Amino acid sequence: TTTKDPPKIHKLDESVINRIAAGEVIQRPVSAIKELVENSLDAHSTSINVVVKDGGLKLIQVSDDGHGIRFEDLEILCERHTTSKLSKFEDLQSIQSMGFRGEALASMTYVGHVTVTTITDGQLHGFRVSYRDGVMENEPKPCAAVKGTQIMIENLFYNMTARRKTLQNSGDDYAKILDLLSRFAIHHINDDPSSSVFNMKGFISNSNYVAKKITMVLFINDRLVECSALKRAIEIVYAATLPRAAKPFVYMSIALPPDHVDVNIHPTKREVSLLNQEVIIQKIQSKVEQQLTDSNETKIFEEQG
Ligand code: ADP
Ligand code: MG
Repeated sequence: TTTKDPPKIHKLDESVINRIAAGEVIQRPVSAIKELVENSLDAHSTSINVVVKDGGLKLIQVSDDGHGIRFEDLEILCERHTTSKLSKFEDLQSIQSMGFRGEALASMTYVGHVTVTTITDGQLHGFRVSYRDGVMENEPKPCAAVKGTQIMIENLFYNMTARRKTLQNSGDDYAKILDLLSRFAIHHINDDPSSSVFNMKGFISNSNYVAKKITMVLFINDRLVECSALKRAIEIVYAATLPRAAKPFVYMSIALPPDHVDVNIHPTKREVSLLNQEVIIQKIQSKVEQQLTDSNETKIFEEQG
């Protein structure tokens, strides 16, 4: 062969493919925590407890009081594309759960050491089992357990040296984790079932709140998401009505029919796209404007339309 020969194409090993994919789903400790908390919410938990050590690099532990995981499902729990939430593609149209791809837990086992402890209703004891690269490391061991599931990730990114180093140096995941958990907490203060019409509620800051940048906590159908168009639209309203408090704190919870939201446009499910986005944004803009001009107080508002 000469140096002019093109490089040979070969198929990547399954394990390499999986680790690359895992690094995209779990970008940093806070992304693992988001996935775990969403799993706990999907399991109808009423209480979720989060412990982190070393910004999540040494330990992440999320415990909930949800419905638990069946013993017979533990074997495939951390394989890629195993889920209890979706069966056929069409189910995406009416999906109520945060998860549906069956990728989060699997991904965690490719970039960290995962141990699951779980008990289902009516059982005398729970089970504990550890996973590595998608598979169980040993048979599940019977153990004492309180209602629900505890998932522990140790040594996140132990096998991705560059990422671990960068995260260790930046050291700001603790702040990101606090921010994420506050966002979930504000949304679940008083849970009421979401309605099937366009319905929104929230809190917005008034002229007393002065900050360097806007904080927008946005839930659409109980999913913590981002919508840069809506964020910009709100900034514009504040700049026009309260120029001195132009960087507000805004929490909004919007309920839309599930088939008006496309939840599958972003690999981390962070951005969603909405049907009739312009109309919705305009309605929200005018509601916010009205609130700001009506009152100098922080207000709780509700709107149906
Ligand atoms: P997805 O959430 O997309 O289904 P995950 O990899 O996050 O995929 O989880 C796989 C499955 O494991 C879920 O479908 C669910 O059945 C189960 N599971 C994960 N976390 C929990 C939990 N905290 N409580 C009960 N079941 C869970
Ligand atoms: Mg999930």
